[in-house]
Amino acid sequence: MTAQIIDGKAFAAGLRERVGTVAADFEAKSGRKAGLAVVLVGEDPASQVYVRNKGKQTLACGMKSFEHKLSADTSEADLLAVVEKLNADPAVDGILVQLPLPSHMNEQKVIAAINPDKDVDGFHVVNVGRLSTGLPGFVPCTPLGCVMLLKDQLGSLSGLDAVVVGRSNIVGKPMAQLLIAESCTVTVAHSRTQDLPEVVRRADIVVAAVGRPEMVKGEWIKPGATVIDVGINRVPGAEEGKTKLVGDVDFASASEVAGAITPVPGGVGPMTIAVLLRNTIVAAHRNAGIELDESTI
Ligand code: NDP
Repeated sequence: MTAQIIDGKAFAAGLRERVGTVAADFEAKSGRKAGLAVVLVGEDPASQVYVRNKGKQTLACGMKSFEHKLSADTSEADLLAVVEKLNADPAVDGILVQLPLPSHMNEQKVIAAINPDKDVDGFHVVNVGRLSTGLPGFVPCTPLGCVMLLKDQLGSLSGLDAVVVGRSNIVGKPMAQLLIAESCTVTVAHSRTQDLPEVVRRADIVVAAVGRPEMVKGEWIKPGATVIDVGINRVPGAEEGKTKLVGDVDFASASEVAGAITPVPGGVGPMTIAVLLRNTIVAAHRNAGIELDESTI
């Protein structure tokens, strides 16, 4: 079997287009543009690239982008003061504090300071609780993007066996919650799981969020399963001195067995910012009390 390739890049482009349409409608109804504020502390090169891309894509969708770049030696108190200001600013609908933060800051404390109704990253414990109890809130962007791709590929996920490899707060755990909400039978695997290949082999849906290059092999995959590869790992490329990106799934062998699979790059990666923009326009409507059928985006 040769798997169908799930084109996350194309899906994300379509999602950004829908967000743009809804953002224009929001502006017409509210008399202002929806706004996303991103706070970056320090000079981590990968974070700088993410923040730049977020800013560009926010503007391209017809929303306002506010960037707050703080030096690496900023105190936690000063960062919390910036977050408080953004909480109080009516032009800001969504707030994202780029992680990781420098080691002298307590990430949980900073996330807890964000108004949960502006927490478009979905990391605040209030939103974690809302997700696990089925209340409307904000869901972390990467796992929500994965579910969107799965539903686009498979339609209803009800009754399917899903295995999520990884139990982080930003991917694995919210992914499991979302799949439970879609009525899948969910197993969460991690570094202490016994006989991981056998566990993965049970799955109709495999989500790999491990951070280990090409760990999940083709022989672990049930024939015809749908494989979502969240991993982004930079490894040495074929040419000396060059690097390339690979996922947590061994694409060459897995694509021979799976029914459908996301590639790396071009699969889950592009979904994350697109879903962030979606969450921001949803926040704008909720905060302004303007009705929106959220299922259409
Ligand atoms: P974390 O490091 O926070 O979590 C990794 C998880 O994988 C842990 O639960 C860990 O288990 C588990 N794990 C590690 N080794 C093994 C193993 N040998 N067997 C089974 N499980 C194992 O990573 P994240 O969740 O933050 O990210 C995962 C991957 O997704 C990374 O490659 C990251 O770059 C990528 N990513 C991509 C995003 C995107 O936009 N596409 C966004 C976010 C992440 P334990 O808990 O027991 O330690």
